[in-house]
Amino acid sequence: MAEVENKEPIKASEMDPKFKYEIAKMHGGEKLMRCFQCGTCTSDCPVAKFSETYRPRQIIRMAQLGLKDRVLNSDTLWLCAACFTCTDRCPQDVEVASVIRVLRNLAAEKGIVPQVFKEQAVSILESGYAYKIPDLRIKKRETLGLPPLPRGNSEGIKKALHGVSFLKHLEKKGE
Ligand code: SF4
Ligand code: SF4
Repeated sequence: MAEVENKEPIKASEMDPKFKYEIAKMHGGEKLMRCFQCGTCTSDCPVAKFSETYRPRQIIRMAQLGLKDRVLNSDTLWLCAACFTCTDRCPQDVEVASVIRVLRNLAAEKGIVPQVFKEQAVSILESGYAYKIPDLRIKKRETLGLPPLPRGNSEGIKKALHGVSFLKHLEKKGE
């Protein structure tokens, strides 16, 4: 996944003052406004260590400022490994990882999801596996005398995910 960030200067018209309240109403987003931008989350984040652009502190600030479109369209939003180090270390008890999850959910509701995750979702729905194992590899297992792979429970997964709006976006686009 390419790490592409919007470097355009921020315009006042981009700021939605209600956005922070929208996030604060969601589970995990309640303490968003406590952030005082100390940067501890970024300095301790294992992903930020290996990325030129991934900065959880910036994501939190964009959310506070109401830069809704900018943050929901940010590719870096999807780099979080959900390790919760940031949440554990934040001196203000901001649930950073949960705020990122809330933002991802809002993006997914609009169908803004990197192609790689869309493909994984389609594969899970079709086969029960995040990665569809090619027939050639399955045949090779047989020739090597390996046992068959357990069947994925795609029907059970579809049932469990019934009503999830992100999936409607997949269906709509026929992806
Ligand atoms: S560690 Fe907490 S207070 Fe510091 S920048 Fe991150 S979210 Fe804000
Ligand atoms: S949960 Fe995400 S943002 Fe927080 S430290 Fe882990 S990878 Fe970084």
